[in-house]
Order: sequence, then C-alpha cells, then structure tokens
Amino acid sequence: MPSRNFYSGSGLDRAEHLRDDAEWLRAQLSKSTTRILPVWRTKNLIDTRSRISGEPRPVWLPSLKAARLLELADELIFLGLRDGEVRIALDLSTVEEPSEHPDLAPLGEFVDLREIGPLLPRDEGSILAYARGLAHWHKTHPFCGRCGHPTESTQNGHVRRCSNPDCGTSHFPRSDPAVIMLVHDGDRCLLGRQPFWPPGMHSVLAGFVEPGESLEEAVIREVFEEVTLKVDQVTYHSSQPWPFPSSIMLGFSARALNTEIKVDERELERARWYSREEMLNSPEDESFRLPRRDSIARRLVDDWLKETGS
Ligand SMILES: [Zn+2]
Repeated sequence: MPSRNFYSGSGLDRAEHLRDDAEWLRAQLSKSTTRILPVWRTKNLIDTRSRISGEPRPVWLPSLKAARLLELADELIFLGLRDGEVRIALDLSTVEEPSEHPDLAPLGEFVDLREIGPLLPRDEGSILAYARGLAHWHKTHPFCGRCGHPTESTQNGHVRRCSNPDCGTSHFPRSDPAVIMLVHDGDRCLLGRQPFWPPGMHSVLAGFVEPGESLEEAVIREVFEEVTLKVDQVTYHSSQPWPFPSSIMLGFSARALNTEIKVDERELERARWYSREEMLNSPEDESFRLPRRDSIARRLVDDWLKETGS
C-alpha cells in the first residue's frame, strides 16, 4: 500500500451516529476530556512557541477552559472521537481581530494551513483540513440554493437546512472532484507552470471533473485541452483531500501517445517534457522547483521517479 497523502489519515472516528443529537454535543462541553479546535475565517489556531521552533502544533483547548470562547462562536462542529474523546471545531469568525482579543490572543495565532501543512504531524494536518473545510462550507452556504431563504446548521455542523418550512431542503458539505495526472513518455514526464504559481514551480497537469464524464475521461480531456497531447493507459494512483477551499484531488498517471506539445496559454504559462535526470537534479530555486511537499502532485512525481529509477 502506498503511504498516505498529506491531509488524509486523521485517525478520527467521525461517529456519524452522534450527529443528530445537539443536546448530547452540548453536554460534552462540560466534560474534562472534550477538546476544542478553534477556527477563524478558515485559519487554524497554532501554538506560537511551536511555530517559532519550526514544529507547529494546533491548539486543542480543554472545553472547560473555553467557556468564554463558546459564547463567541457562530458554529459548533462535531469532528468525531479520538481515542473515545470528543473533538469539536469552533468557528470564531465573527471575532474582528483575534490577535487583539483578550481571550484569544494569549492562546496562539491563526495561521493558514497552507503555510504550515508539511510541518505538521499527518493526523493533525488532516484534522485541521477537515475543520477548515467544514468551516468554509458553512460560511459560503448561508442561503438555500433552491428558494433563497437562510439556511441553518444542523446535524452537529454537518448539514445546513433551509429555514423555509415550505422548502426545508438539506444541503450537504461538498468536495469538488479534480483530476491530477502525471503524463509520461518513456523516461520523460510532462510538467507545466501556471503564471500565478511561486517562482520556478512546475507541476503535473490538473483540472476539474465535469458533469457527465468519468474520471478517466476528465484526465484525457484536460491533457488534450492544456497541451493537445493524446493519452492512454490512464491509471489511478491515490487521492488527497485539498480543502483550499473544497477539492478532492484524484491522482492518475497516463501514457502519452504523441509528444509534440501545444500549450493553451489561457491555462499554462509553459509546459515541456522533463527527463528523469533533470528532475532528480532539480535546483529547487527560482529557475525550477518541484511542487510543494504536501501536494499529491509531488507524490505523483516522486513515485514516478522511483518507479523508473528501479
Ligand atoms: Zn429552501
């Protein structure tokens, strides 16, 4: 089995059967073992000293010490059980400036997961991604897409229900499927670059799955749209939650059937074939660097390099 991708493997029991009991969740707040994970505008609370030391760790507050924060919360999300103990995310987005709030400032600082993801233990990174993803979904779905009335959080933070009694539609958290694929041609693979990426960064191709197509069809379509290559042998690799803001990345490899590239400049700044040797000797600087370590893109590249190297 391949090792897990970043942002998966939380180790949490999501305990779906406990989601429909709001009173039960409230009662958990007065238990000494319950832990609270604060979220603010999709940022996670990180212990400042741990961040300075280069090993950032999230702040898990004992709920008994979080009474004042609970009053500030506009969303309570039951994440699940860890070793039988209750874990809850608390959305504090209504606080204007946490670094100036007397109850929040001493606890740590709110940080974007993308800044620290690779430095976190895998299970903690996955839980932060989970909490961030749900908090973002709540914030972006305040109204019913069917009738336009306000929605309300229910199922302990896992469903939003329309408040219009004539409608009552339930809305569920969404993950947008995106395919990401390493296209290979013998000892070379294709890397491209989008203009807004960090200087030098090159990566494999990717794109969103459209309604009415399979994942394999999406791979074939996206590769052709971006670089006019035809591919076959579309093979599944692994998947990765990517809550920036709400994707699930589905990783593939594919074999190129032709090798001449024509870049769609609306999507990519450039793309070309890179030999295995060239990639193994990546300078990792502003002329050329591989994708970030916590991405499935990097995993696809690294695994391909190992495969062809053996
Ligand atoms: Zn409605």
